[in-house]
Amino acid sequence: MRTRFAPSPTGDLHLGGALVALAAYCRARVHGGAFVVRMEDLDPPRVVPGAAERILDDLRFLGLSWDEGPSVEGPYSPYVQGEAGAIYEEALGRLPTYPCTCTRAEIAASAPHEGEEGPRYPGTCRDPARRKDRPAALRLWVPEGRVAFDDLVRGPIEEDVAAVVGDFVLRRADGVFAYQLAVAVDDGRMRIDEVHRGDDLLGSTARQLLLQRLLGLPSPRYAHLPVVRGPDGERLAKRHQTQVSGSTIRELRARGMAAEEILGPLGHALGFADAARPCALAALVARADRLAPRSFVVPGGWLSAKPAVRATNA
Ligand code: GLU
Repeated sequence: MRTRFAPSPTGDLHLGGALVALAAYCRARVHGGAFVVRMEDLDPPRVVPGAAERILDDLRFLGLSWDEGPSVEGPYSPYVQGEAGAIYEEALGRLPTYPCTCTRAEIAASAPHEGEEGPRYPGTCRDPARRKDRPAALRLWVPEGRVAFDDLVRGPIEEDVAAVVGDFVLRRADGVFAYQLAVAVDDGRMRIDEVHRGDDLLGSTARQLLLQRLLGLPSPRYAHLPVVRGPDGERLAKRHQTQVSGSTIRELRARGMAAEEILGPLGHALGFADAARPCALAALVARADRLAPRSFVVPGGWLSAKPAVRATNA
């Protein structure tokens, strides 16, 4: 059983990321498999300097040691997407694509998370006569038909990618490889058996399965985990993370919390513990043969308001 945790180094490791990492770690360990860490640093403007090192340091603090990944070489190197350009380029060359010069949609298409994408691409640039004279993105010529999979948490899911998303971007006009391409190629070539991630990425799965099929790569099973919620039951969005402290591992560490105090409640949300109290990692692993996730609700005491930043021109 090979699993992976694939953070983007765009900020510190938050509780949602830690939940996903814990699921992947425990599932690999209970089956005597390999836990892989892959750094997804493809989009240069979004990368925060030092974030990758800080995320890895937080994983070490939690005890989530990886068998392959940054600074632990393995058979599927590189484990940093920024170093895998030649691999994505080769995959692109084996896919049916066409250049596209429609700019607005192209920007939206690089954002993987729910609500960040634009409408279905109508296929304008399939017609070469409609292309403009400017740098072009590359889109996949999406075949008709449904993609079906059985999510370990959400059950059977079916999507007609051509009807819902249309031809999607594989490489942006600025040369950056799209998340969909890089993830599909990496999960396939790294022989990942089970993917754990937040269910805001559920809508990307059909595209990734389609790419793996077209490339002749194996596909993993997917477990899309419920989003993390605040003590009020509301989704803990990125927006909130700038207003409250205690939603990142770093902040909880700074307050002197021990790894077991963080791991226990997270493990409970995954169904690896009976109660949301401090728990050793090994005890969570022992129960990880069955994944039964529910939404993780951040304990009230963990969050506190950040001091408001006041406007200075008042
Ligand atoms: N790198 C993506 C993120 O941090 C996750 C990709 C995935 O798990 O498929 O949002």
